[in-house]
Amino acid sequence: MKKKLCQECHTILIGRSDKKFCDTYCKTAFHNKNYRNNHEKIRYINDQLKKNRQILKVLSDAGIAETQRIKLLNAGFQFQYITHQSTASNKFDVRFCYEFGYMETLNGQVIILYDSNPGIDYADKLKLSFN
Ligand SMILES: [Zn+2]
Repeated sequence: MKKKLCQECHTILIGRSDKKFCDTYCKTAFHNKNYRNNHEKIRYINDQLKKNRQILKVLSDAGIAETQRIKLLNAGFQFQYITHQSTASNKFDVRFCYEFGYMETLNGQVIILYDSNPGIDYADKLKLSFN
């Protein structure tokens, strides 16, 4: 019969066949490690979303409404991290990092947008701008 090992310290388990850990210490250590690993991934993504927002905010606060994709990348912006998106009436996707958004044009330009009221669908608001 194959011997089962503790999932945390890998020592041979003695006792019930459904036992996974030698004691509560190993059980707690195992679950804490899993929680920490998952939490680190969440924190990394949250930090990147906040960083993206900050980059858009700094530009927006400086009165810059349009920039180039490469400049955002050089500032550390990661385009794969967004909080939500809508499609404007001009068919461009508007991607948001919280209340700051952007629209990419076909020539590599990025138009920065600010949504003062994120509770309302941004696509509806944009119809006014592009009609
Ligand atoms: Zn153990």
